[in-house]
Amino acid sequence: MRILLSNDDGCTAPGLLAMARHLRAEHQVDIVAPDRNRSAASNSLTILTPLRIHRHADGTICVDGTPTDCVHLALASLLAEKPDMVVSGINNGPNLGDDTLYSGTVAAAMEGRYLGTAAIAVSMSAYNPKHYDTGARAVMQILAELARNPLAGPTILNVNVPDVPWEDLQGFEVTRLGHRRQSEPVGEALDPRGRPIYWIGPAGPGADAGPGTDFHAVEHNRVSITPLLIDLTRHSLMGKLTEWAKAL
Ligand code: MN
Repeated sequence: MRILLSNDDGCTAPGLLAMARHLRAEHQVDIVAPDRNRSAASNSLTILTPLRIHRHADGTICVDGTPTDCVHLALASLLAEKPDMVVSGINNGPNLGDDTLYSGTVAAAMEGRYLGTAAIAVSMSAYNPKHYDTGARAVMQILAELARNPLAGPTILNVNVPDVPWEDLQGFEVTRLGHRRQSEPVGEALDPRGRPIYWIGPAGPGADAGPGTDFHAVEHNRVSITPLLIDLTRHSLMGKLTEWAKAL
C-alpha cells in the first residue's frame, strides 16, 4: 500500500519516526507533518495566511501549518501519487474520550476521509513513551487485517496503545469513547513584565471509564480500537426536536 504518514507532534517526533520505520518495511510511505509540535490543534485549517513547506533530504515534507493542513496539502497538491490511506502518529500521550475533540492526531486521520478507506490515528498511553515499537506493531497488525478483510467506507480508527513491551500486551479490544471530567484548572501567573499569563491545564481524569470504554481497555494493557464518526448529528433527538420546533 501507499501510506501517507502524519502526526501532530512534529515531523521529527520519535513516535512518527518509529511508525515510519515499521511501515517502510512493507509499504510505500510519504511523510507530511507539521514542522513543530501542534498538539491539540484539532481540525483547524490555515486559511488566512499561506503555508510554506520544507523538503528534507529523505523526502519528509515539513509544513508550517496544522496536522489538518498537512494532510489536506498532501492529498490536494504535494503528493505525486494518491495514497491508499492515512496513518497519524504515533502520538505522545493518549487520545481517549473527549481528547478526540481536541486531538491533532485524530484530526490528521479525519482529513484522510475522502480516500474512502480506513484511516488510523495511533497514540501511546504515556506522555514520554518507552515502547513506540508496541504501538507500531499494533498498527502493522491492524493494517494486515485491513488488507485481508477491508472495512467498508471511510472509517476512522482511533487506536490507543498501552506503553508496555509487546509481550505484556493483553490483546486488542474494540471500544467506545469514554468521557473525562473537566480539565485541571488554568494556571495563572505574571510574565517578567508583570502582565498576566494563563496556561490551559491538563486533561481531567476519566469519569466514564468503565468496561467497554477506551480508558478501561488501555488501563488493562489492551490496545483500544474505537471507530469514529464524522457525523456529529444527534440522530436520537431528531424526532423529539422536530416536535419541539413546531412551536417556533
Ligand atoms: Mn500530540
